[in-house]
Amino acid sequence: MINEKKGAILIISGPSGCGKSTLLSAVYKNVDDYYFSISTTTREIREGETPGKDYFYVSKEEFLKDIKNDNFLEWAEVHGNYYGTSIQPILTALEESKLVIFDIDVQGHEIVREKLDRVVTSVFVTTPSLKELEKRLNGRKTDSSDVIEKRLLNSQIEIRSCHKYDYIIINDDLETASTQLVSIANIARVKSELFDREVIINGWLENILS
Ligand code: ADP
Ligand code: 5GP
Repeated sequence: MINEKKGAILIISGPSGCGKSTLLSAVYKNVDDYYFSISTTTREIREGETPGKDYFYVSKEEFLKDIKNDNFLEWAEVHGNYYGTSIQPILTALEESKLVIFDIDVQGHEIVREKLDRVVTSVFVTTPSLKELEKRLNGRKTDSSDVIEKRLLNSQIEIRSCHKYDYIIINDDLETASTQLVSIANIARVKSELFDREVIINGWLENILS
């Protein structure tokens, strides 16, 4: 089939508290056939989170065992905790032609780009300012002041990688930013690299050749 869909990856990164999860809820409502990659982490579960939905929560020992067994497509230490993407569910979702969505940090983005560049579209999300980020992290009320301080410090390093992404969203007005992310998610599915050139040409010529 000429319009056969291939699996694609959408990576979303940005400082903790910039609004990635909030924006992704608009994608889930408006985009078909996606698979959200559930990461494994050693960080503590937050109030309101569900194991197996937000993250798989494991001990440091279990995480290190997964690294040793090569179970991760990528992993990184972020804000003093380990986070990683298990490889097997990603390969299955790509084979099923899904749009695979990753919410991972800037280190993870670089690794996935190196390994699967052809199918990746990436977007860096940020607040209009560091001050606004601090306001949102405080307003979310999920982290202690120590944790917030660490995230604010890390954000000043992360922002320096924004140019490595295909797109940048300044999440100021939520509706505007949500529309932008939904558009990028849809565009990620029609990258020319996702199409099989021979299938396109042969399918397109079908009526002449038969
Ligand atoms: P992340 O997933 O990037 O850590 P969240 O989606 O949890 O961030 O958002 C952090 C906080 O900012 C939440 O309380 C959320 O309601 C709020 N928020 C998200 N987007 C906006 C926005 N455009 N304007 C104001 N507040 C926002
Ligand atoms: P949080 O603790 O706020 O849920 O996430 C903290 C940071 O870890 C965010 O920047 C998020 O994108 C990143 N993160 C979550 N899962 C992964 C993952 O599997 N790999 C990497 N590299 N980063 C992740």
